[in-house]
Amino acid sequence: MSVIGIDFGNESCYVAAARSGGIETLANDYSLRATPSAVAFDGKKRIIGVAAKNQQVTNMKNTVGGFKRLLGRKFNDPHVQHELTSIPARVEARPDGSIGFKVNYLEEDQHFSPEQLTAMLFTKLKETSAAAMQTQVNDCVIACPIFFTNAERRALLDAAQIAGLNVLRLLNETTATALAYGFYKNDLFEEKPKNVIFIDFGHSALQVSACSFTKSKLKMLASTWDQIGGRDFDLAMAEYFSKEFQERYKINAKTNARATLRLLTEIEKLKKQMSANSTKLPLNIECFLEDIDVSSSMQRSQMEELCAPVLQRVEQTFKRLLAESKLQLDDIHSVEIVGGSSRIPSVKQLIEQVFNKPASTTLNQDEAVSRGAALQCAIMSPAVRVREFGVTDIQNYAVKVLWDSEGTAGPGEIEIFPQFHASPFSRLLTINRKGPFNVSIVYGQQIPYPDQTIGVWKVKDVKPNERGEGQEVKLKVRINNNGIVLISSATLVEKKEAEEAAAAAAAAEQAASEEKLGEQAGGASNLGENADGQQEGSDKKKKAGKATELPLEVSTHGFSPVDLSNYTQQEAKMIGSDLKETERIDARNALEEFVYDMRNKLQGGPLERFVLETEREAIVSQLNDLENWLYEDGENCERETYANRLDALRKKTDPIKQRANDYDQCPAVFEELKGSI
Ligand code: ATP
Ligand code: MG
Repeated sequence: MSVIGIDFGNESCYVAAARSGGIETLANDYSLRATPSAVAFDGKKRIIGVAAKNQQVTNMKNTVGGFKRLLGRKFNDPHVQHELTSIPARVEARPDGSIGFKVNYLEEDQHFSPEQLTAMLFTKLKETSAAAMQTQVNDCVIACPIFFTNAERRALLDAAQIAGLNVLRLLNETTATALAYGFYKNDLFEEKPKNVIFIDFGHSALQVSACSFTKSKLKMLASTWDQIGGRDFDLAMAEYFSKEFQERYKINAKTNARATLRLLTEIEKLKKQMSANSTKLPLNIECFLEDIDVSSSMQRSQMEELCAPVLQRVEQTFKRLLAESKLQLDDIHSVEIVGGSSRIPSVKQLIEQVFNKPASTTLNQDEAVSRGAALQCAIMSPAVRVREFGVTDIQNYAVKVLWDSEGTAGPGEIEIFPQFHASPFSRLLTINRKGPFNVSIVYGQQIPYPDQTIGVWKVKDVKPNERGEGQEVKLKVRINNNGIVLISSATLVEKKEAEEAAAAAAAAEQAASEEKLGEQAGGASNLGENADGQQEGSDKKKKAGKATELPLEVSTHGFSPVDLSNYTQQEAKMIGSDLKETERIDARNALEEFVYDMRNKLQGGPLERFVLETEREAIVSQLNDLENWLYEDGENCERETYANRLDALRKKTDPIKQRANDYDQCPAVFEELKGSI
């Protein structure tokens, strides 16, 4: 059993594996550690990762990238509409309002959702891991942006399930980075906390987190983020060059998706060179549009001017973190950077300006997130033995619980988790009710998603006591390991009259030790809390009455079990079909290779002298016919057809090979035989 961590980036993915020897970033089928987050289709198969990116310019309509930021969203979401302006694939709203990328696959038009495309990418990463580790992969930890909301987290989990991955935890990306740092720096930590800032500046997002380390423990303190990344630098530069080309060459790059893609690819290369070089650098593209070769140049200072609005937002995000974390500059031990765009010199300068410390590159900037995720997976999984390291993450947004009115009791609400509350965590909320009621969990602040609702839970089977009065319903509200908030259980506490006096006394005692949040309009409510892993509730509470588990009916984001099962089956079918196609191509290649190889060996090669002239000519002619057939009628046959032809050929040529072998073993006998003929 192997244990992996996945960094699913908007531009590229990394997978790291935990083995007893340590953490290792895995290479894919192209011997590269980065797998582009791209999926493509053709008449016969899916093309995923490096191969998808490599053929994008020639198969733009059937190549999809940039789907990470579309997870769990509807087509008409303004965020989606904005993202789609930079995705050159065909996309439509499905009848249920979801996003459907339209591609031609297996000779027909098909639609796939961002969740399905993510699942396809995960399938590829799973295969990469299985090939590199020589074992099946199931358990994993997937990193996700700190700002992902309930809908996006559930969508990511759905995608992983479709791909057959067992997710032990969705870990916030900066938390994964912090773990990758802290696990190996443990010797530096003491009782007194050391605060480190982690900055991840990637392709589509900037995430900044403050973390405090003590011996074998990390605790995230606060995070800020902005939806800006390397692609915004590229776009600002593309705008500039497009204008220049319009003036100088009278061509409009924006009207042509292929030209835009080529321009962005060259700009990205130029941008990377600029990080190491402040002099003027050239940009040349041959046959850019209308057969015109274009050329221009730019230097770093010019790029910084063009991207000033993005850099301003970077600075603001850094400053917000200082304010949110309430850390003084002197409290900060170091500022660690990861993510491709953190290599931009002006970003490093801003770090120094705001935090009064140079940006530190202790970690591998590309691989830290996946390595941290793999470490977390190893800590959680029994399959690999590693030292314990405690991770306390945070809930990035404030969360409220609301309940509806019932009879004389009106509705009520309470902020159950303030922003940056520790995660995972459970809280008990007590509400007095006579009958079934609805509880909603919503985000209590502005979030980057159009709907504030996390979910609605119908609490069933609630009934009054013997005297027709309301009874205590205890709701366990939980932020789970994946950063998803839910009601994990509801319990009705039925108190017999004789027990009530004791219960009242217990409640009074408890109120003194519990954080009590006052009377709500909808009935008395108070909170009990439990850091994860501790015993839920107190014995006193249990003694105060008979506890009955109540059934819950939930409506929240994510696929229904039926949809999930259908998509999982569909993915399995596509995996099967891809495998079949790979085997077919392999069989065709094997036959083709055999034809060339055998012809060379028979004509002037080592086998020539071991076959009679007439037989040799017949075989060579058959090989020539086969070669022609492979490029004509035989181009698209089933695997068996190629395999059968290869077998038939082998039957004819094996005896010749055998004779050559025998000769090699014992040339003297052969010469003797020849002499006697
Ligand atoms: P995200 O974290 O936003 O989901 P990601 O993880 O795929 O995306 P990264 O791989 O961290 O993103 O970073 C990719 C970005 O970094 C790209 O925009 C790329 O152009 C940029 N980048 C990589 N190397 C350099 C460099 N040397 N100089 C400037 N930018 C760079
Ligand atoms: Mg990233």
